[in-house]
Formats: sequence, C-alpha cells, structure tokens
Amino acid sequence: MILVLKSGTSSDQLEELCVWLRRFGVQTNPIIGSEMSVVGLVGDTSVIDIDQVRQHEIVERVMKVQEPYKRANRRFHPDDTIVEVGGVAIGGPDIVLIAGPCSVESEEQIAGIARQVQSSGAKLLRGGAFKPRSSPYAFQGLKAEGLLYLSHAREQTGLPLVSEITNVSQIEMFEAYVDIFQVGTRNMQNFELLKQLGQTRKPVLLKRGFMNTIDELLMSAEYIMSGGNDKVILCERGIRTFETATRNTLDVSAVPVLKRRSHLPVIVDPSHAAGDAWLVDPLSKAAIAAGADGLIIEVHNDPSRALSDGQQSLTPAAFDALVPELRRVAEAVGRRI
Ligand code: PEP
Ligand code: MN
Repeated sequence: MILVLKSGTSSDQLEELCVWLRRFGVQTNPIIGSEMSVVGLVGDTSVIDIDQVRQHEIVERVMKVQEPYKRANRRFHPDDTIVEVGGVAIGGPDIVLIAGPCSVESEEQIAGIARQVQSSGAKLLRGGAFKPRSSPYAFQGLKAEGLLYLSHAREQTGLPLVSEITNVSQIEMFEAYVDIFQVGTRNMQNFELLKQLGQTRKPVLLKRGFMNTIDELLMSAEYIMSGGNDKVILCERGIRTFETATRNTLDVSAVPVLKRRSHLPVIVDPSHAAGDAWLVDPLSKAAIAAGADGLIIEVHNDPSRALSDGQQSLTPAAFDALVPELRRVAEAVGRRI
C-alpha cells in the first residue's frame, strides 16, 4: 500500500503518521521525492482500515500495490535511484561504462587493461575471480588472488571494482576487496545469497537469470532490498530463446520495462548476450537508445588467448574506438558518457 502525502507536509507530521502506522505491525518507508512524497507500507496491510488512513490530515490518496515487489517498485519510489560508488553515480544523467576482462588472469593483465579502459572512458573495472563455468574442467578463476590483483589495479587507477560472488561464504572476502558485488545470471535465484547480500551495505549488480522473467528479476532485487540494502543495479544480459545465432537473445525491451516498473538503475551486458565481439557494438548502441544507465563490456588484452569468453571480448583498441560512437548515441537520447 502506498500513501501519497499532501504537499507541505512537515517531517514531524510524517513521523507521527509512520509511528501510528507501525502500530499495525507494518513497516513504513517514507520517500521524500521531487514531485511527490509517499509512504510505502510493507507487510500485512489487511489489518489497516483504509478509510481511516484516507481521512488522515496529511494523506492525499491511498494506492494499493498489486505487484509482489514493493521496495523495488517505481510506485514506492517515484524518483530514479542513483547508486553511488567511489564517486561514480549509476542511474543519474550520465551513462556509466564498466569494462574489463571476463576473468582476472594475472596481476599485469588486470592492471594493464584497467589503465587502458580508463583512458578510453570506463568509470569502473570488471573482472571475475570466481568463475561459474559450465564445465568443471574449464578455468575456474584465480579466486582470492584474483581479488587481490583487482584491488592493486584499483590502487593504481582509482577505478571502483565489480566482481562476481558465487557463494555466501565469500561475502567477507568480497567486502574487503570489491566495491560492487556482482550476482551472475546463474545465481539470480540463489535466495540465500540474495538474503545475505541484503545484510551488507555495498551495491549489488544483479544480473537477470537467462531463464527468468522481468518480474522474477524484480523479486530477486526485492530479496536484497527487504534486508535493508537498497543499492541494487539491475542488469539485462540476454536470455535463452530458440534463437541460436547469438549466445543469448538481448531482451532490449527489458530496459524500458524495468525502468517503468522500478526506480533502480538498469544496465546492459552486451558481451554475454552477443557471444561474439562484432555484435557488442550494435547491441551497446541499442541498449543506450533504449534507456540503459550503463554498460558492462568484456575487454581482454589478447582475446584469442583469453581463459574465458575470449570470443565475445573486445580488444582495448576496439573498446577505445567504440566509446566515441556510444557518446554520439548517448547525446542523441539526451545523456552523456
Ligand atoms: C560474467 O560477467 O563474466 C558472467 C559470467 O556473466 P553472466 O552471469 O551474465 O553469465
Ligand atoms: Mn564472461
């Protein structure tokens, strides 16, 4: 349930209303917005007498929320959420580029790529240290050593880090090294992991499961947010369809649908959707045109020798050539990179 407040409501009046509502056993989430202020109620609202709430002096109107996701819902939070990390704002007017290799392979490799993608315009560095591979015989990542090398690359460049967490037991280690927890497509419904990340206070980049609906993605965001961590960044990375010409099918329409249903930032991973480096350019442009707040792109120093996802990785030079083109698309839709 959402209560839209009358303009001119004082903070004392708001607090008084929330105290009264909490007596019914529901949680109150007041949001002071630029256009309007609302109080979102979470819990069993059936015990509340709606007519009594409607008559309250600071309540303009009462809206029922049909969707099962509450905190992630745009109705609960009419303004866009901006997630800040290391001086970078994700979800604001600027489109944020995140770049780096699929896997961290050595200290020199990640440091070198970090410097190159930064000079091209990337604002965050990505790199996997714990790799969820389809084959147990494929490279599984450098694990803690990989996180250490990432942190050295951050020391040298100042770029905040994004890396994928695959298990609850890694949270403490990630807290020490990484700026954003990445939850990969295979773990989007690892509810124990989501609940534990809800207890942390670092942003979570939540990738859509390749077999999951948009609403299921929002419910996974709700798991994190219901624990008290509202710094969630949603990521469309392609879904499995009957089409085999691409590794996955980039669901471009997920971007505007997510932006409409939710206030959370939405970014796109064209690399895992495409599966092939040449497709990263058009998919990136489509994502920006559709309203994405950022892109996460795989860049490797030597794609043909990469230990994972080389086929879809751009060289640093290709990334450098792509960024000015992305800037032009961003400008066309009133954004900046
Ligand atoms: C990755 O980012 O390297 C990755 C494994 O992504 P996804 O979970 O989208 O497959
Ligand atoms: Mn990858």
